[in-house]
Amino acid sequence: MKSKLPDVGITIFTEMSQLALDHQAINLGQGFPDYNPDALLIQCVNEAMLAGHNQYAPMAGVPVLREAVAEKMARLQAHEYDPGDEITITSGATEALASAITALVHPGDDVILIDPAYDLYAPVIRLAGGTVVRVPMMPPTQDTPRFAMDWNALEGALGPKTRMIVLNFPNNPTGTILSDDDLAHLERIASRHDVLLLSDEAYEHIVFDGESHRSLASRPALAERSVVISSFGKTFHATGWKIGYLCAPKSLSAEIRKVHQFMVFSVPTPMQHGLANYLRKHARLEQLSTFYQQKRDRLKTGLEGSAFRPLQSQGTFFLLVDTSALGDSKEKELARRLTIDHGIGAIPVSAFYEDPNAPQANHRLLRLCFAKQDPTLDRAVEALRAVPGVAA
Ligand code: PMP
Ligand code: GLN
Repeated sequence: MKSKLPDVGITIFTEMSQLALDHQAINLGQGFPDYNPDALLIQCVNEAMLAGHNQYAPMAGVPVLREAVAEKMARLQAHEYDPGDEITITSGATEALASAITALVHPGDDVILIDPAYDLYAPVIRLAGGTVVRVPMMPPTQDTPRFAMDWNALEGALGPKTRMIVLNFPNNPTGTILSDDDLAHLERIASRHDVLLLSDEAYEHIVFDGESHRSLASRPALAERSVVISSFGKTFHATGWKIGYLCAPKSLSAEIRKVHQFMVFSVPTPMQHGLANYLRKHARLEQLSTFYQQKRDRLKTGLEGSAFRPLQSQGTFFLLVDTSALGDSKEKELARRLTIDHGIGAIPVSAFYEDPNAPQANHRLLRLCFAKQDPTLDRAVEALRAVPGVAA
């Protein structure tokens, strides 16, 4: 059969989770917590089921949840989205991204991705007939121990066929966030080029060291051309619920909803009512960053002096570690050996590049997920500290 995606197999997350399972390794690979959502949230969903919210939700989402999202965006990002026409509840950030790309990218359009890039974007752009144009972030250095945006390179990649730029901050896998300066660069670029911005903000509520999340929604000049997407799975420790949302100006939302309604029509009703109730009465969004910062620091401090040198993580629940002390194997091989021989699952950062085998994709980095209970993190640290470095 002629495949539409001949070079695509299972994702690196599935592959490495299976390997961790096969070898009973601690899975710091695929990003998901090993703890439950707040019992109050589960109760809110139970109550919604018992109250009879069990049939199809409206296509765009139940109004109370769209209103709760609009209130949250107004409070935290100072942008007023109309819950009627500009907010859509989706089957995770995944479906929001896929629906947005499918609706907005036409055959022959160029779409810019920033490498390293989350695995979903490129295949969906290709399915829509678009051409992926990749712009690498600047890799970590001694002075700046994290990946950083290269705005000149981004602007250089824009051309007459550029339809969209995909951004993902806080960034998976690098943990880099956007600064005010970054937003100013983006505003300048957007004022010179007529492009759409697809902003994957799945980790919007996980930002460290007193910084705050700078959504593209927070600047009117960006919001008017942006599709802003997030995931309740990340925010409420419920990745298996697959529920998220999408905010965009009315004209963009209308096109995206045309795709959403035929991809899923609508998403689970009791979850939507439960989340709306929880958001209104119980959610403590502001505490999430502190919760995860403690976990980041536990892992980071635990690794000091080991063969895994932590880089800076400004947000998300991921920490990159430099593995130069372990020799010069490719990242993927290193991740497999770490799982099989040392009982720790990890994700090679090279998997977020077009060609994972290319030298430019291999910075000797692994991604570790710290959304784990403290005892899990402590066991992982013990195992990682026991991995010997190779003599230089
Ligand atoms: N975007 C990014 C950057 C992610 O890391 C993830 C999931 N980890 C998603 C989108 C998908 O989110 P969801 O599980 O809500 O579909
Ligand atoms: N986004 C998650 C990660 O980066 C994985 C989600 C998935 O497995 N598709 O680990």
